[in-house]
Amino acid sequence: MTENFNRIWHQRADDLLKRGIDGRMVIDGRRWAATDGSLFDCISPVDGKVIARVARGKAADIDRAVASARAAFNDRRWAGQPPAARKKVMVAFAEQLRAARDELALLETLDMGKPIKNSLSTDVPSAARCLQWFGEAVDKIYDEIAPTGDNALALITRQAIGVVGAIVPWNYPMLMASWKLGPALAAGNSVVLKPSEKSPLTALRLAELALEAGLPEGVFNVVPGFGHEAGEALALHMDVDAIGFTGSTRTGRRMLDYSSRSNLKRVYNELGGKSANIVFADFDDLDRAAATAIGSMFYNQGESCNAPSRLLVQDSIADAFVEKLAALTPQYHPADPLDASTVLGALVDETQTQTVLGYIQSGVDEGARCVAGGCRALQETGGQYVAPTVFDGVKNSMKIAQEEIFGPVLAVIRFKTEAEAVAIANDSAYGLHAGVWSRNIDRAVRVSRALQAGTVHVNQYDEDDITVPFGGVKQSGNGRDKSLHAFDKYTELKTTWMRIDSAN
Ligand code: NAD
Repeated sequence: MTENFNRIWHQRADDLLKRGIDGRMVIDGRRWAATDGSLFDCISPVDGKVIARVARGKAADIDRAVASARAAFNDRRWAGQPPAARKKVMVAFAEQLRAARDELALLETLDMGKPIKNSLSTDVPSAARCLQWFGEAVDKIYDEIAPTGDNALALITRQAIGVVGAIVPWNYPMLMASWKLGPALAAGNSVVLKPSEKSPLTALRLAELALEAGLPEGVFNVVPGFGHEAGEALALHMDVDAIGFTGSTRTGRRMLDYSSRSNLKRVYNELGGKSANIVFADFDDLDRAAATAIGSMFYNQGESCNAPSRLLVQDSIADAFVEKLAALTPQYHPADPLDASTVLGALVDETQTQTVLGYIQSGVDEGARCVAGGCRALQETGGQYVAPTVFDGVKNSMKIAQEEIFGPVLAVIRFKTEAEAVAIANDSAYGLHAGVWSRNIDRAVRVSRALQAGTVHVNQYDEDDITVPFGGVKQSGNGRDKSLHAFDKYTELKTTWMRIDSAN
């Protein structure tokens, strides 16, 4: 059964590649080559082969896409539709994703290397749910009337912000795009999406599916290209009203700079992380704690912004806990992403592989003890594979504890007291997620409150839902994707004062 299933995905990949993948931009409802005809190779990390040639958008293409988005916004072909009508299109858009599940999942896996199992069971359904959820929400939100005196009426309304530039990373290409598209489109904005140059393929299909669902032309445009070209042009554009950015802290800094150098557009940054997951000795199910610590760390090859990459373990249980981790880690050995049983696939590209290997070397050089992994794997495939790696004896000052590795590398840091655990956890430039494992309710609440993080997990690490905000504090950014709060980013509050004269 599994073998058949495996062959099916390889067969489907071959068929798709034989048919050819359209790498042209989508602007104003149509496919276009880049204005100057430039292309870049899209290389699959599964086996190192070129799977598509993609339009390399630059400033001229961004200008065209923004002009199209602006025209669509100004004539109100989308923003002017009643919320209930926009809802219908968003729900149809979600249905299009579901109908194209296999194709989208395959594109995502071939493009950035995640296991097909995850693309099918998580990336496509979660992206569809996100679009549907924001669509369904938009006709259930009421505006406000301020509690003023009799002689005036003050309306507080939300209005679409205008043209939104969405710039997203490669680790969850379709899902990160949907976290921007859901609230931005449902609220009535027009969007120009710049996907990562490392994973542009599903974004282009999303734009086609949106058109098929009835989204008017020009409302959603996709310009693939490089960060320093298309990305910079979009973020510097004088006619873009807001940037919804997800990516590294380094690039997030630039976003603020682009804004200050152009039109002071709003910038919402969803950035990197180095999340601390703290296991106290009083937790009674250490097998589950270990399995979750490993599973959450190695999911998506460790290429998750909220991966619990610093594992803080209380001294008295540390030896036994590290043994459990070392025993569990081989279950996550890298394998063919198109094999339905694979749980850990390929890293996105050779650059990322070298970055991860460089961090592993730095852990060794700084004196941490490698208890699992620590090397490249499956090199004969031509793809990008690194064995899941666990370091024990890590000091929080080490590079592997301070910097975001964005690969399958877990750093175990031992601590003695609760106060020490909190101090270590907060001694980071980042503040995205954190975890606490304790059966002591007072401790669990105390520590959750003290942790500097946008989300704290207690006695689990994998709960997630579109209904809750996702985002960080400190250098993990300022925005919140998901939940109704995401509408705050893509709408402006407007106050309208009206004078009410008395009857005489
Ligand atoms: P990145 O910052 O290199 O790139 C992100 C996007 O920005 C890409 O589309 C890229 O082309 C563009 N870009 C790069 N340089 C640019 C420039 N000079 N000007 C304009 N645009 C530019 O990040 P990445 O390597 O693609 O993604 C990994 C990062 O994303 C990690 O730090 C990860 O933690 C973060 N991330 C955060 C979240 C979150 O919700 N907080 C979610 C997923 C990923």
